Amino acid sequence: MTDLEIVRVAALTDNYIWLIHDPVADETVVVDPGEATPALAEATRRGWTIGQVWNTHWHDDHTGGNAEVKAATDAIISGPAAEAAKIPTLDVKLAEGDSVRIGSHVAQVIAAPGHTAGHILFHLAGDAVLLAGDTLFAMGCGRLFEGTPEQMFANMQHLATLPDETQVFCAHEYTQSNGRYALVAEPDNSDIVARMRDVDALRAAGEATVPTTIALERATNPFLRAADVQQLAKRRAEKDSFRG
Ligand code: ZN
Ligand code: FE
Repeated sequence: MTDLEIVRVAALTDNYIWLIHDPVADETVVVDPGEATPALAEATRRGWTIGQVWNTHWHDDHTGGNAEVKAATDAIISGPAAEAAKIPTLDVKLAEGDSVRIGSHVAQVIAAPGHTAGHILFHLAGDAVLLAGDTLFAMGCGRLFEGTPEQMFANMQHLATLPDETQVFCAHEYTQSNGRYALVAEPDNSDIVARMRDVDALRAAGEATVPTTIALERATNPFLRAADVQQLAKRRAEKDSFRG
């Protein structure tokens, strides 16, 4: 278990911004601030001072608040080197093998092209925490705007090797829609049926369904569970046009 405090901040239509706080070092990171106001308000409410922004990819719903967070806090903004031209607010350019820190906690940067060409993930292995951006969702994966099924399959294969207990912090509340498709993709998977009962109850109560875990995704995520590139490609194409 991690001693980091990780707080979900709802933003825009269905985005989640994550605030990560290390109480020992008294440091705070904001992950993918698609807008600044709710993230700044939550940090202020908790008495936390934002010192860093970590971006997973260039899309505006993940970086739109960068400039305003920087103006308010003077935070250092780190994100994908490969997308630096599209993230003009970037201070630190990251690629596979790099790492960033919050206090004494280390986040390894994992390249995960597919949703965008330069998408990165932040993996705090010592904390069993994965900041998954728009690559791995609860029962889903990111749409392939700039990459290939081969790339996303490789991402899924790699993430499936992370420890069971790894908590996965996704950037959107897409679980119910993903789950409706998962029931179609794997009609005989009783773990998906059981999970959807929980998800439907949470959503009916207006509650969030993330973070998730690698163990739960290994059991119920039709993209993480895809047997080969062809199956992932087929499922991604079906989900793109799925109206469940
Ligand atoms: Zn995106
Ligand atoms: Fe997004």
